Amino acid sequence: MSVTGLPPYDDANIFARILRGEIPCKKVAEDAHALAFHDIHPQAPVHVLVIPKGRWVSAADFHAGAEAEAIAGFWRMVTAVAKEQGLEASGYRILSNMGQDGGQEVPHFHVHLFGGRRLGRMVPPAPAG
Ligand code: 5GP
Repeated sequence: MSVTGLPPYDDANIFARILRGEIPCKKVAEDAHALAFHDIHPQAPVHVLVIPKGRWVSAADFHAGAEAEAIAGFWRMVTAVAKEQGLEASGYRILSNMGQDGGQEVPHFHVHLFGGRRLGRMVPPAPAG
């Protein structure tokens, strides 16, 4: 069980397969700690995913278990990619979905980086009723 009560890490998840090179990705940046690549279904002119290289299901797992150097390296990549994508002046959004209510589809911790347009409301209103 992961720290958050989510299922344990699944080595067959799509991001694990991308990290192993079994599935191609449009790479933006890579170092010892993290990999950044374009989302396959972009929801903004810039939509990049940043993933740590370790086997972490969620933000909670990652921050509880990863080495400090890996955590710092991951977040440095997020902001470096935002800069490299030309988003510093216009602004951007960092988002991470976790578990069922968060809408997490891929059970490998990741951050979405969105930019290139006005992104609107942070969270859609709850459905009526
Ligand atoms: P989540 O809902 O888990 O936060 O987001 C998962 C994201 O991964 C989605 O935005 C989805 O479009 C993206 N995604 C799913 N499969 C692939 C893939 O094979 N390649 C890439 N580049 N992105 C993927």
